[in-house]
Amino acid sequence: MAVPSTEVQQRAEELRTTLNQYAYEYYVKDQPSVEDYVYDQLYKELVQLETDYPQLVTEDSPTQRVGGIVLPGFEKVIHDIPLYSLNDVFDKEEIIAFDTRVQKALGRAVDYVCELKIDGLSISLKYENGRFVRGATRGDGTVGENITENLKTVKSIPLKLKEPVSLEVRGECYMPKASFIRLNQVREEEGLEVFANPRNAAAGSLRQLDTRIAASRNLSTFLYTLADFGPIEAHDQFSALDELDSLGFRTNHERRLCRTIDEVWAYIEEFHEKRSELPYEIDGVVIKVNDFSDQDTLGFTVKAPRWAAAYKFPPEEAETTIEDIEWTVGRTGVVTPTAVMTPVRVAGTTVSRASLHNVDYIRAKDIRLNDSVIIYKAGDIIPEVANVLTDKRSKASEPYPIPTHCPICDSELVHLDEEVALRCINPKCPAQMKEGLSHFVSRNAMNIEGLGPRVLKQMYEKHLVADVADLYYLTEEQLLTLDKIKEKSANNILTAIEASKENSVERLIFGLGIRHVGSKAAKILAEHYRNLRNLSKADESEIVSLETIGQTIADSVVTYFNNEEVHDLLDELEKAGVNFDYLGLKNEELTAIDSPFKDKTIVLTGKLTHFTREEAKERIENLGGKVTGSVSKKTDIVVAGEEAGSKLTKAQSLGITVWEENQMVAAIEGSHNHED
Ligand code: NAD
Repeated sequence: MAVPSTEVQQRAEELRTTLNQYAYEYYVKDQPSVEDYVYDQLYKELVQLETDYPQLVTEDSPTQRVGGIVLPGFEKVIHDIPLYSLNDVFDKEEIIAFDTRVQKALGRAVDYVCELKIDGLSISLKYENGRFVRGATRGDGTVGENITENLKTVKSIPLKLKEPVSLEVRGECYMPKASFIRLNQVREEEGLEVFANPRNAAAGSLRQLDTRIAASRNLSTFLYTLADFGPIEAHDQFSALDELDSLGFRTNHERRLCRTIDEVWAYIEEFHEKRSELPYEIDGVVIKVNDFSDQDTLGFTVKAPRWAAAYKFPPEEAETTIEDIEWTVGRTGVVTPTAVMTPVRVAGTTVSRASLHNVDYIRAKDIRLNDSVIIYKAGDIIPEVANVLTDKRSKASEPYPIPTHCPICDSELVHLDEEVALRCINPKCPAQMKEGLSHFVSRNAMNIEGLGPRVLKQMYEKHLVADVADLYYLTEEQLLTLDKIKEKSANNILTAIEASKENSVERLIFGLGIRHVGSKAAKILAEHYRNLRNLSKADESEIVSLETIGQTIADSVVTYFNNEEVHDLLDELEKAGVNFDYLGLKNEELTAIDSPFKDKTIVLTGKLTHFTREEAKERIENLGGKVTGSVSKKTDIVVAGEEAGSKLTKAQSLGITVWEENQMVAAIEGSHNHED
């Protein structure tokens, strides 16, 4: 056996320490400090050293262990059947080498199943007599964490199967891209640390002791393996996935049976292209030998099956330069930095700006003006700075001077202990006031059209409005003093403002911009309290007792309404005739409705002309239907407006009922609920 030199031994030790540190940050803290491909490259280097010098393998080597560490605070679960990792492959050559190894071991060619490699968190779900009894993380592969209660909040996990069978299934729990983007936006606005990617966001949500957090995070699942088959008979992976479907699990339908390795490669190329269009993040493709008896023959290494390989997409990144850092003040006073960069193409679009989130982020990455940086897209969409190319930095470069005063009102900024953000705490800061107005008129709040940021800015600066109630006292003459506002648009604005008075109160509650109260919480509060005055007098313990409303929201609501100025604002709004009542229905009341939407899952696609999407959604939900974003077998009706695209095609291919917009309008108008 060749003897490794001291340098090689030192390098192996260094790689082990670094990789173990990265794995800790990734699996335990859910906050990776490097990109996956950086980890993957170092890992590959260690595997090579250990292959060349097997005596270098140590027990603590990451190549000998699966996954992460089990967190304290959760009950431990021993996996009777371990959860493995997968061997990574990075190019076509390595895939061909994988196929060659398989063929050599079996003495013939085989079929493969290609599945998307969902970038989430492995979970294992146990069912007894058709009932969900336990859900666990992978942990270190043999011992995981019991996260049953959190998993029960994930809507795609059936609590009861279609047949009363006992079995164990495995798959991936993930956060859809749209939810990830929204979550990070909200966290940034609230001055909290953002998640690096949807995987960490999903993992961070599931490993919370408070189940309400997981419930609020809109997680989903794709199941892909039967670990314990119970009575289910399946002889290959492809039909096992169909079995999972028919038992009521959600599986990923992009899977494909491939007869040759060329077909496998074609699948990989196809999804490399389509990756950014998918509503969830994938980091590659998993290739599995289809036949289970072949899988048995091939078996496992210490860490991964020999019958599968994970192809990892190459990183899509680009180099550019930081030209400037801009600071903006949000509605709650959080001051956010944005990097202005030399425009560069990355993953299909030209990028010139990236949020730097907060001061800690700038400091941790030591981002400076004129730095050369590598950027990538988190969740396939949002540009992020991966790292600074410090070698390229000029000697004269200085750390970026963090602002001490608000860029808008010049008052001193604060850095609260529990936050990563800088905050302007001047309640009269014009930036916050303007943002507050923008939020109030936004689509999910009072939905007042015609009041874009430009118009609001002028109104504010000309002292026509100081707070949201002032909007209801605007006159045509005042509006005509604004740039580019003629009679017609002034009238449109006034009509839109007038119409907003009739909104159900959850829009107003959300629009007021009470910290931590998002549109979902606003709806729950409105449903329960029925009227804004009731809510303004609500008792904290009662608010906390509402489903999915936590202590933070309750504190924030009570603090908000404790302010006398807020009561003056409510008086002004009420005097102007703004509705304070909840006009929708409670969940229990929804069950009493008779409508064609009742208990149906509806997808809206294309341009609607009669209602806006938001209105249609609200009306359908008030008639007992559920409106979702993507078409699947579970969809009952797809409403296709003008220029409907891929969703319509998918609905047609799945044989789902398709309605034209006028059918939906007729159904809405012909249905009766309690308010009619
Ligand atoms: P892996 O991510 O390479 O692959 C195994 C996992 O893939 C499985 O456990 C499963 O959860 C998942 N998976 C998704 N879709 C699947 C499907 N259709 N079929 C089967 N499995 C599917 O391996 P790993 O052990 O989970 O993690 C190692 C990876 O984690 C590394 O390659 C690296 O990219 C990342 N990592 C990154 C850091 C960092 O600091 N950035 C640190 C540690 C690990």
